[in-house]
Amino acid sequence: MIVILKENPDRRQLEFLTGWLQKQQIGIHISEGAHQTVLGLVGDATRLDIDMLKQMEIVEDVKRVQEPFKKANRKFHPLDTVIQVGSARIGGGGVSIIAGPCSVESPEQIALVARGIKDAGADLLRGGAFKPRSSPYSFQGLRGEGIKMLVAAGREVGLPIVTEIMDLSNLDLFAEVDVIQVGARNMQNFELLKELGHSRKPILLKRGLANTYEELLMSAEYIMVSGNENILLCERGIRTFETYTRNTLDITAVPALQTLSHLPIVIDPSHAAGKASFVPALTMAAVAAGADALMIEVHNDPPHALSDGAQSLTIPAFAKLANQIRQLESTLVEEKN
Ligand code: PEP
Ligand code: MN
Repeated sequence: MIVILKENPDRRQLEFLTGWLQKQQIGIHISEGAHQTVLGLVGDATRLDIDMLKQMEIVEDVKRVQEPFKKANRKFHPLDTVIQVGSARIGGGGVSIIAGPCSVESPEQIALVARGIKDAGADLLRGGAFKPRSSPYSFQGLRGEGIKMLVAAGREVGLPIVTEIMDLSNLDLFAEVDVIQVGARNMQNFELLKELGHSRKPILLKRGLANTYEELLMSAEYIMVSGNENILLCERGIRTFETYTRNTLDITAVPALQTLSHLPIVIDPSHAAGKASFVPALTMAAVAAGADALMIEVHNDPPHALSDGAQSLTIPAFAKLANQIRQLESTLVEEKN
């Protein structure tokens, strides 16, 4: 349920209202916009006396929220959420670029890619250390050592870092990580999500291979309900009947999730396409659709990458694409104004 307040609500009346709600075990999520304050009510609001609420002087309207996700719901929080990570601001306009290799492979490799993407204008550095591979015979990642290499490379070039967690037992290794990624395969690992809710670090939550928007938002809700509201929703391609590409990029996720939720939307064209040559077109489509951020795989030597080489851009190809992203971004801003 949401309670929409009249403009400039009287402080004392607001205190009375919040006290009255709290006495009935209702959690309150306050969202203050320029002209409107919205109270999102969390908990069992079914027994609340709506007529009484509506009659309060400061109350403009009361609405039931039908969707099962509350804190992730745009109705609870009409303004876009903006997530600040180091110097990067994700959400609320503009496109942030996250780039880097699928896997961290060596200190030299990650340092080289970090420098390349930084010079090309990326905002965050990604690199996998714990890798969810379909085959147990494939490279599994450098684990804790890989995180240390990523931290060092990010510091060296001054970029915040993003890396994936696969199991809670490794959480201590993520102390210096700026954004924790939950991969597609773990989107519904609810114990992991609950625990990440106690962290204050932003979480990049990837949509599962065959999950709906509502399921993705319910997973975000798991993290938010435990107290961490810094979530980036990531569309990375879903399973369809098409086998020519690795997955099918669901561009509709951008306007759909922006309608349903206030959380920033990241598009990962690399895991969607599976082919480097398709990545620029999907990236531009994502920017045109209004994505808040992109996550693009970049490697210094794609043919010899230890994972996902086929979909990784070379550093020069990424630099060219980053330029095109910035150009399209400024055209879109000009058109808006
Ligand atoms: C990745 O980002 O390298 C990755 C494994 O992604 P996903 O979970 O989307 O497959
Ligand atoms: Mn990958």
